[in-house]
Amino acid sequence: MATTKQTKQQNKQNKRKKPTRKQLVKKLDTIVSLIVRKRDKKCVICGSTERLTNGHLFSRIAYSTRWDLQNCNTQCWSCNFRHEFDPYLYQEWYKNTFGSVSYHELHRRFAQARKFSDIELGALLLEMEIILGNLP
Ligand SMILES: [Zn+2]
Repeated sequence: MATTKQTKQQNKQNKRKKPTRKQLVKKLDTIVSLIVRKRDKKCVICGSTERLTNGHLFSRIAYSTRWDLQNCNTQCWSCNFRHEFDPYLYQEWYKNTFGSVSYHELHRRFAQARKFSDIELGALLLEMEIILGNLP
């Protein structure tokens, strides 16, 4: 009995020590959202400072650009919602701000399937923690 209990405790500790893939993805989503909102401070489309979110220019479905700090920019909730069915404004903002070469390169990265290993996700999370810490 004691052995079973010990094993269970060890399993619990291992789980705590090593976050699951799902947890890593969630942590990355959270920290990238914090970074872009701290960096941009307002909706890049309309300038609002209310209900700010991390707006993905190209869908967050693609892991290749889900945490790409060029693909992620601050949007208020309503501009983010609008982008779902009318991406024109955000696309135009991006091209006007960073140029069409950057836009096409970002799209190329988006369209390229990318599979992150758990180790790569962990490394990216550490990188994001440093970026967040260095933001004024
Ligand atoms: Zn807005």
